[in-house]
Amino acid sequence: LEAKEEFEHNSLAVDVMRPRRSDPPLAMLTQDSMTLGEVESTHYSGFPVVVSSESQRLVGFVFRRDLLISIDNARKRQEGVVSASRVVFTEHAPSQPPEAPPPLRLRGIMDLSPFTVTDHTAMDITVDIFRKLGLRQCLVTHNGRLLGIITKKDILKHMAQIANRDPDSILFN
Ligand code: ADP
Repeated sequence: LEAKEEFEHNSLAVDVMRPRRSDPPLAMLTQDSMTLGEVESTHYSGFPVVVSSESQRLVGFVFRRDLLISIDNARKRQEGVVSASRVVFTEHAPSQPPEAPPPLRLRGIMDLSPFTVTDHTAMDITVDIFRKLGLRQCLVTHNGRLLGIITKKDILKHMAQIANRDPDSILFN
């Protein structure tokens, strides 16, 4: 995101975030209720981690790359890592039946304070934050519940759309 391009348009975070209304829901990981098989079957670059899918309270963010590396390492070094192993991002592993495979503890790879904006944050402010903090993505919340995600590419696409429609709204100086 070039700092010399000034973004002057009254769109809001909710207009740029994914998922769109017609998209499948946001792919999230829950902090202690998913299996390794479920975690591995996801395909975005990163995932918000939430308390539970019902609460949608954000607890952190993990990159898919880090997840895959950690899972790979665990398979090499740890006994009994199977698709049914529980993936746990909490400090203490939840109790499991004695016959269950040991959980995979991945709190260490989670960003505990991912950047968030609310759905009504103006995009010019959001773009400014992306630039100043060098963000690659940012999460969007409403009343403390996780709603969506905005990546750097989403912003670039949005700017390109606006520039096509309304070239004066982005000033090049
Ligand atoms: P990029 O935007 O750099 O291509 P991603 O693979 O993270 O990287 O995202 C691709 C698209 O999917 C973007 O429009 C993004 O907003 C959206 N997206 C990213 N993460 C998720 C997620 N966990 N759930 C749903 N959509 C996501």
